Amino acid sequence: MTLEELHQGISTCEKCGLSKERNKTVPGDGDPHADIVFIGEGPGRNEDQQGLPFVGAAGKLLSELMVGIGLERKDAFIANVVKCRPPGNRDPLPEEVEACWPYLEQQLKLIDPLLVVTLGRHSMNRFVPNKSISEAHGQAFRREIPNMGKLVFFPIYHPAAALYRPQLKDEIVADFSKVPKLLAKIKQDKEMRAEVDSQSTQPKLFT
Ligand code: SF4
Repeated sequence: MTLEELHQGISTCEKCGLSKERNKTVPGDGDPHADIVFIGEGPGRNEDQQGLPFVGAAGKLLSELMVGIGLERKDAFIANVVKCRPPGNRDPLPEEVEACWPYLEQQLKLIDPLLVVTLGRHSMNRFVPNKSISEAHGQAFRREIPNMGKLVFFPIYHPAAALYRPQLKDEIVADFSKVPKLLAKIKQDKEMRAEVDSQSTQPKLFT
């Protein structure tokens, strides 16, 4: 299956209640062979109308942050944990995340990125559990996830958080500035992905 075929399937999905109020599904967008994937929580109002991820104010900030490290949106892949907008921008319910999760599994399996940047605590929680975002942001963790393979995760705060709490913007910018070096390191040392203990369900710091 290709990413395009997967996204075609998502466009008619009714596996959870979020299908009832959505305008468009927002499967994700970008390079299907990207080295870096950004994962947010769920689409907002603008995303729901356009069918594209991160096109509102938080998306504008994400684009600026990417440009700041020499990355264009077309060179990355951007997606969310749930592909339909939770009404009123509420948090997705656990059963909605569960229903949508296989799509993210398939996306990451097909793209096979070097680095997954999680945006916000909800996105981080599934990949780097049992940590608070204030403690984990700006650090890289490697882990094997069932059905996704061995991946390196880099949690940062959600760009929307910086819109409400401007003091977080400096932290997001600082974390973003680490990404190019981290990517280069992973590219140089692809073998480190093979070092992941496949029996371990706990993320390990990638230093
Ligand atoms: S959120 Fe995911 S599982 Fe729920 S209807 Fe949308 S695509 Fe399907």
